[in-house]
Order: sequence, then C-alpha cells, then structure tokens
Amino acid sequence: MIPPGADTVLVRHGDVGSKSAKVQSDMERVLRENLERTLESRDIEAAVDVRWARIFARGDDVDAIADAATDAFGVVSASPCLVVDPSMRGIRRALANTAREHYDGGAFAVEARRAGSHDFTSQDIGRDGGEAVWEAVENDFQPEVDLDDPDITFFVECRDDAAYVFLEKRDGPGGLPLGTQRPLVALVSGGIDSPVAAYEAMKRGAPVIPVYLDLGPYGGPDHEARAIETVRRLSAYASGRDLTVHRVPTGPAVERVVEATGAERMLVYRRLMYRIAEAVAEEAGAVGVVTGEALGQKSSQTAANFAAVDDATTLPIHRPLFTRDKQDIVSQARDIGTFDTATVNAGCNRIAPDYPETNADPAAVRAAVPDDLPCLIETAVEDRDLVEVP
Ligand code: ATP
Ligand code: MG
Repeated sequence: MIPPGADTVLVRHGDVGSKSAKVQSDMERVLRENLERTLESRDIEAAVDVRWARIFARGDDVDAIADAATDAFGVVSASPCLVVDPSMRGIRRALANTAREHYDGGAFAVEARRAGSHDFTSQDIGRDGGEAVWEAVENDFQPEVDLDDPDITFFVECRDDAAYVFLEKRDGPGGLPLGTQRPLVALVSGGIDSPVAAYEAMKRGAPVIPVYLDLGPYGGPDHEARAIETVRRLSAYASGRDLTVHRVPTGPAVERVVEATGAERMLVYRRLMYRIAEAVAEEAGAVGVVTGEALGQKSSQTAANFAAVDDATTLPIHRPLFTRDKQDIVSQARDIGTFDTATVNAGCNRIAPDYPETNADPAAVRAAVPDDLPCLIETAVEDRDLVEVP
C-alpha cells in the first residue's frame, strides 16, 4: 500500500550497519550504485541518495523502485513514502490523506520514530497522528486503535529536515551489497542446488563468474539450456552486473575419467571440476569456487569424500549449502525463481559407477587420476567460450 503522493522509497540495510563508519560508508556507496544500476537496467527513473544510514530513492514509480530495492543484496526492507514537512501539522495532514485513501475499517496503529530536534516527541506523533487518522475516517467507519495487533499501521519516521509517512515495509533479501567481496567462480550445472549456492554467495557480497561444464555425451543441449536459464534468473539479483557464462567443453576429459576409473570415478571427476574452476578463476581474478554440494546429499558428497577432493585446488571451495536439507534448498529455489528451470527434464548418461566410493582414501583417489588429465583440462579451459546471458 502506497500513501497518495508518495515520491520516495526509503531503503534500509542490515549487516552494513554493523560495520565501522568507514566500511559502512563504503558499503552504502556500493549499495547505492547497485540500486542505481538495477533501476537503470529496468528503465526506472530515480535519484538515489544516502543519508543517516538510509538510502532514499526519489522517482515517480515508487512501486517499481521499491521492488527493485528489495531485489538488491544488503537491503533489509523498503517502504514507498510520502515526504512531508517535519511538523505536527504536516504529519497530521499526511496521515489524514493516507487514511482516507487506504483505511477500510478495523484496527489501526500509528508507529512513530523521531530523530533530531522537534518540539514534539514520538509519543506525540503517535497520539496526535492517531487522532488525525481517526478524524479523517470516523464519518465512514467505526475506527478502533490497536497498537499490538492492528489491521493497518501508519508509520511515521521524523527527521530534522523531513518526515516520512508509509504503510508497509517490503522485505529485502538482507546480506551485503554485491561487489563488496572479490569475485568467486560459481560452478553451475542447471540443477536445483547450484543456482541457490551461487545466490547465497552473491547475497554475502561476492559477484560470481558462472562456469558450466559441457560434459559431452554425459550432458547435452538441454542441460546447457537449463544452466543458462538458471543463470538468467539469477541476473535479477545481480544489480545489472554481467553474468556471462564460461562454457567449458569437458566431454573428452570426462570420457577419459570414465574409461580410466572405477569406484573412485566420481571423486576424480570432482577433482577435474575443481581444476577447471581454478583455471578459470585464475584468468578471471576470482578467489574461490562455489558449488551446490551439501553434506551427505550424494555419494560423492560425504565428509570423507570432500577430504579426498579438496586438495585438487589451492583455492577455497565454498559450499554454502553444506548443512542444508534438500527440502529447504528446493523451497529457496522456488522463492528465488530458479526451481522450475532446474527441474525441466534433461535426461543424461550416467557417469557414476554402480558402486561409488563413499569413504575414499585420498591417496587412492589421487593415484586414480589419469596422467593425461591435466593436459585434457588445459585444452578444455583454452577452448571455453562465453555465453552471454540475455
Ligand atoms: P545441482 O547440485 O546443481 O542440483 P546436481 O546435484 O545434479 O546439480 P551434482 O552432481 O551433485 O549436481 O554436483 C554437485 C555440484 O557440482 C553442483 O551443485 C555444481 O556446483 C557442480 N556441477 C555439477 N555438474 C556441473 C556442470 N555440468 N557444470 C558445472 N558445475 C557442475
Ligand atoms: Mg546437488
């Protein structure tokens, strides 16, 4: 619900506010730039400012501005506001107009905050503001005040140079502004887990460089289409940043692994993936690898097996979903809009052996790596191409 005449969106951050003054102001700048880029990429006009640890975006389409803000990492909530004179008269008038437009019976509350010097307190705003709402609607309704469980809340935030009146706080994703960390390579398969893992890394501020391994006879165009489409979905949260996918032709290397290995196959295959991710990361300036792996989700994802693969690369392998249940991941994939694509059927040939190792001996896994694999990896990385995500 938007107060009549609203022309500003008040945007609040969370973890950013727990930083030292310098870091906070740097992060606020990044958040402001991200919001500006998102607005631009959606053709929404707005002027964005940072003041008193809040971001204010002024423009005509406050509904669209608030939606854009709540897609930006670092944002905890956003409210389309009517901005008025920081006087009791100005606030009362704004509340009365807003009530006439939006109140339609039931219990209401006025919730006020105030900072700066005024000749009234926040309690005064609550009381006088409540009276203004009451008087505005009493001819048409039998209003009722309930501060604990209202049907509608009129929020007022009063500062030295303006007062803000709003009716809702739309939830944002929280986290930290994208771009406040160095980039990470995200291994994206087009499945349910990997886009959620990439989202989580982005949510804490790390831009991702998506890497898709084209597994040749073990993958196929449908897999690739899923991977590209899930990345496209993620671009809604990327603050207008580039999410070009590095597509690495990994078929020959995987065929070699399948032919040369038995019980350790999946672990040699995981090592192959990390090596490829590492090579792309080195060229692209990324400082780690993100995967959708979770403890115990698959036979290759046991605690012992992670211990047998992580030394394939000197880069840290980040597994944001490590402790998450599948149902929880699925529900998040639905929320962020990647689930439907990830579940499009894209049959494939099975790489896994009939009896995959679940308690690998790291030395045995290293010994199972075919000698010519590094060479195949090098060729695959050299031959990769870039798929722009529309
Ligand atoms: P997802 O985990 O995305 O749902 P999955 O569970 O079928 O797919 P696994 O075989 O469990 O995939 O692989 C674990 C992780 O390895 C994935 O989450 C992803 O990060 C990475 N991965 C798997 N296949 C590919 C691929 N073809 N290209 C890039 N990364 C991949
Ligand atoms: Mg998985």
